[in-house]
Amino acid sequence: QRALVWFRRDLRLHDHAALYHALKQSREVCFAFIFDKSILQDLPADDRRLRFLHASVLELQQLLRTRGGELIVRYDAAESAIPTLVHELGIDAVFVNRDYEPAAIARDQRVATQLQAQSCAFLDDKDQVIFEQNEVLSQSGTPFSVFTPYKNAWLKKFYAEGSDFYARAYPSDAYCQQLQAPLRSEVPGLAEMGFAASLDEDLKIASGVSGAEALCEAFLPRLNHYDVRRDYPSVKGPSYLSVHLRFGTISIRQLVRHALEAIRTQASSGAETWLSELIWRDFYFMILHHHPRVVQHAFKPIYDAIQWEQGAQADQHFAAWCSGNTGYPLVDAAMRQLNQSGYMHNRLRMVTACFLIKDLGIDWRRGEAYFAQKLLDFDLAANNGGWQWAASSGCDAQPYFRIFNPITQSEKFDADGKFITRYLPQLARLDKKSLHAPWKAAPMLLQQAGIKLGENYPYPIVEHDVARQQTLSRYAVVKNPA
Ligand code: FAD
Repeated sequence: QRALVWFRRDLRLHDHAALYHALKQSREVCFAFIFDKSILQDLPADDRRLRFLHASVLELQQLLRTRGGELIVRYDAAESAIPTLVHELGIDAVFVNRDYEPAAIARDQRVATQLQAQSCAFLDDKDQVIFEQNEVLSQSGTPFSVFTPYKNAWLKKFYAEGSDFYARAYPSDAYCQQLQAPLRSEVPGLAEMGFAASLDEDLKIASGVSGAEALCEAFLPRLNHYDVRRDYPSVKGPSYLSVHLRFGTISIRQLVRHALEAIRTQASSGAETWLSELIWRDFYFMILHHHPRVVQHAFKPIYDAIQWEQGAQADQHFAAWCSGNTGYPLVDAAMRQLNQSGYMHNRLRMVTACFLIKDLGIDWRRGEAYFAQKLLDFDLAANNGGWQWAASSGCDAQPYFRIFNPITQSEKFDADGKFITRYLPQLARLDKKSLHAPWKAAPMLLQQAGIKLGENYPYPIVEHDVARQQTLSRYAVVKNPA
């Protein structure tokens, strides 16, 4: 029996379902990663994610080599590369961890069909989530569409059926001590694949399993304070592990075990809140599985009837939002954080998304696509869920008439402007009260702070109170959804 482990969103050796099963069941195991041309061709040459991915693949190669193995890396379309490798290496079974995005599911089905014709099995396992697909259902056996009852059912199943079982680690690393390498393979350079070379300082979050472990270790002492600190973007509150969950350089079970440990030993409310965020992640994967139409459409169909702003002014507003030039400092600082680092704090994702949709009246799908392009941790399920939440069109979304006020959000969550001035240093000398809405400041204060509105910081592109009224009428079409 010769097996192939095809790494995708799971770039680690420890606690890895597919790797564990392959090593347990097969005498010889080969390893492959494909830089998939059909995905890469749509990315810009300076795509930050690809640099993160590339560095993480290089580290995985090193980890395998220290155990005598070799990661066979190809720059090709996965649909042809995998069947070719199966043929060349005489593989009997390909092991993968299950993917939940519609395009990936379709690709896997096509690969599996090709492999069947080659008498090679295609075996997929759950690895990315704790509970998937139909594992958490309502009492009537239907999928949940509201988070809280889903979470309650998730926790009930988790604790009743054995948290140790669901969060247990696959001892995959222990099995891969003496691997064999059928052939030598080098990881193609970024330039070879048509991408800009990596600039380390550009990646503000360290890549690979080493980066994930370092972040996790740094976060654990903060875990107990997560519930009180997570909403303030200038504070190190969250874990910053999302990109590692995205590329699987850390296992979800490992994170859940950390949360459980803190809940058990310290009754940590921080850990409980954090576990709840990890459950949101499962929730959105589940929603995507049951409702793949959310990729293009509102979860609640009636919201597809909303008429969004279009034309030159909407395009100008969209460009100002993308570049962080709306005149609302919290929104602008957040967009600059995204553009500069590929990360945006969760509170700010909510604020900027609501601003685009409800202050600028722009279709949430345009914002979703921009985030998808820029976020290092871009994940179709969570991103779509987050955007539909902000648009009030999703499952368990905020009510459409609850519209974030970008100024009060700013006063509440960045009261002293620490976050704002990190990304908008030109506002640093403005007093803390005026910082949240500079155009309201007395001209003398602006002058003293060296701010010339329209020159070194923009006037607001819309007036929130007016925009709010427009949004309420725009959303009138959904007033009484069925
Ligand atoms: P922590 O606060 O440390 O949370 C731990 C983990 O829980 C995260 O890494 C993430 O995997 C998960 N998580 C936390 N909040 C959520 C949530 N609301 N939904 C789903 N999972 C969650 N998250 C992504 O991973 N990718 C995205 O593309 C993405 N797009 C978003 C778009 C919008 C408009 C909004 C409102 C939220 C989005 N989120 C997305 C969710 C959330 O903002 C990020 O997961 C979080 O900010 C990542 O930072 P962290 O790892 O420090 O999170």
